[in-house]
Formats: sequence, structure tokens, C-alpha cells
Amino acid sequence: MKRILTGDRPTNESFHLGNYVGSLANRVKLQDEYDSYILIADLHALTTHFDKTTDLEKNIRGLMLGYLSIGLDPEKVTFCLQSGINGTTEIAYILSILTQRSVLERQPALKEKLDQGNQDTLGLYYYPVLMAADILAPKANLVPVGKDQKAHVEFARDIAIKFNNLYGNVFPIPEPLIGEIPTLPGTDGQGKMGKSLNNAIFLTDTPEDVEKKVMSMYTDPTRLKVTDPGHVEGNPVFIYLDAFGTDDDKPQTTNYKLLYSKGQVGDVEVKKFLVKVLNNFLDPIRKRRAEYENKPELVDKILKEGTEKARIEAQKTLLEVKKAMKIDYFI
Ligand code: ATP
Ligand code: MG
Repeated sequence: MKRILTGDRPTNESFHLGNYVGSLANRVKLQDEYDSYILIADLHALTTHFDKTTDLEKNIRGLMLGYLSIGLDPEKVTFCLQSGINGTTEIAYILSILTQRSVLERQPALKEKLDQGNQDTLGLYYYPVLMAADILAPKANLVPVGKDQKAHVEFARDIAIKFNNLYGNVFPIPEPLIGEIPTLPGTDGQGKMGKSLNNAIFLTDTPEDVEKKVMSMYTDPTRLKVTDPGHVEGNPVFIYLDAFGTDDDKPQTTNYKLLYSKGQVGDVEVKKFLVKVLNNFLDPIRKRRAEYENKPELVDKILKEGTEKARIEAQKTLLEVKKAMKIDYFI
């Protein structure tokens, strides 16, 4: 069975709609077909959240609840915690020996994180190398991610090819799999919705939260009156309707798009429809989360056992890597 490895940074205790359409939905869809490893990337979270105000433990538990609430099955999926997988950081160091510094300097995610005011640390530069090791340690074939992470998966491919050419075929070459909506914009209409960007609708938001956020959402700044023809293309309200509406919602969405572009329906009416669509999507997720919230020991056990399993895989790969490089003298 081919393998998936993908993951999330515990920078918040909940996922948002962007995480869902960018990556989580594919994980749910593929959990029967692939041996899936899902990583909670606490070391990656620390690259931007190393001050002590971030409650990593709470966030890790929150993300676990998030996985279970969207229907990822712990019988099929291995959930694991990055900092507990001894071996990965050692693989990362070995990969860094093969990495050109200029490649790390050019990564787009780095510029973005520095622009957001993060400290210019080696940890931030090293991010793609550690992510490549996360992917290569369990020998993953497929990596479901949002578009913002595509360059990192491509880096992992390049470094795996380089390693294999130098030392023999140890790693399968991983492929990125981008979600149906590669980048979901935020409620502020800016670039991407992000856990740490204050523009997200979270899977844990209450119906009232969703209503408040949607009603104050960015729509079309060129439209001043209801009778002005509005823009549907690029309008986050319609992007969300397309992403989260069911087949039954489609005719109404199409109708609203037409009326909106002719200036025959107001933002408020369309937004009210979106509130309904989103709450219908979130209701079963909220219910399942509430069930698991009552079982903290079970949730911790799932993560602990998964981490142990992932550690064994990483150790196996590390040994192969060392053998291939002939640095296994004392093992
Ligand atoms: P942070 O702002 O702390 O980096 P994040 O929202 O970017 O948080 P990550 O944990 O970095 O979340 O990413 C988890 C997964 O969700 C990745 O596969 C990423 O590509 C995807 N993703 C994140 N935001 C979006 C988005 N707006 N649209 C589509 N995919 C997204
Ligand atoms: Mg991110």
C-alpha cells in the first residue's frame, strides 16, 4: 500500500475552512487507499511560536480532535507528533548536507514569514529541510497539502532524487496533491486564510461565530449600492459557497451569482445563505468533536501509539540512510 505523509502546525487549537479544502478533505478521501501518516508538527510550530505564550499541549489536543471530528479513522490512520519521532531530525541534518543554501534563501514561504515579523532564525530557514525529512522518514509517496506548501514538497522531491543519485535508491519520490481549492482566501479577502492570521472561520466556531464572521466578510469593494453590478469572480463569499455548498445548494448559488452580477441581490441576502451553507457543513463536525471531547485519554493514546509506530519507521529509514552513506560503523 502506498503511503501518505502530511501534517499541520499546532499554532491554534482548531483547523479552519482553508485547511479543510486545501488538505484535510483529501486525507479523508484517501484514507482507505493509502497507509496514511498525519503529523502534528510541533517543531515547525516553534519556528514562529517559540515564546512561552503558545499553549502547544492544548493546540496538539485540539488538532487531534479536529482530525477525528472530520472523519479520519484512527483504525486506518497513524497520527504522530513530530518531536517524538527520534530519527527525523537526524535525517534532516543529513539532507541539509546536500542542500544549497541559496535554495533555502529563495523559498517563498520564508519571505512571507519574515514579512509577518517573525525573527530571522536558522529554524525558519531550515523549515523545508525538516519537512523533507518528515516526508522521507516514513517513505511517503503522496503529500496532500494546500498550494502554499507545494514548493516545500517539490524541495523534498529534489533532495530525495539527489540523495538517491548519490547513494542509491533509498527514498520513493514524493508527489504533492493539492486540494480542490488550492488557496482559500481569508474572510478579509486577503491572500490565504491562516490559523495565525486572524481571518479564519474555524471548524469549531459556533453558529453565532460563523454568522458574525460571514456578515462582516469582505465581498466586492467596487460595489457601493445593491443595484451596482457586482463581481462574482474572486469574491470570497462565492468562493466559499462553491467550496462548501452541497449539490442541493448549487442551483441557489448559481442563481445568486447571476443576480449579483446584475445588481439584483444584496450582499446581506447572499451572506445569510452562506451562513446556512457553512453551518450545515459544520454541524456534523461539531457533533463528532463533542463526542471525542469526552474521551481525552483515548485521544492521547491514539497519538502516543501512532508516534511510537512512526518512530520505528523513521529509525528503520535512518539506518538505511546511514548504510547507503557508509556511516553505519558502530550500529
Ligand atoms: P499557520 O498560519 O500557523 O501557518 P495554517 O493555517 O497555514 O497555519 P498549517 O498548519 O501551516 O496551517 O497548514 C496545514 C495545511 O493546510 C497545509 O497543507 C496547508 O497547505 C493547508 N492550508 C493552510 N491554509 C490554507 C488555505 N488558506 N487554503 C488552502 N490550504 C491551506
Ligand atoms: Mg501555514
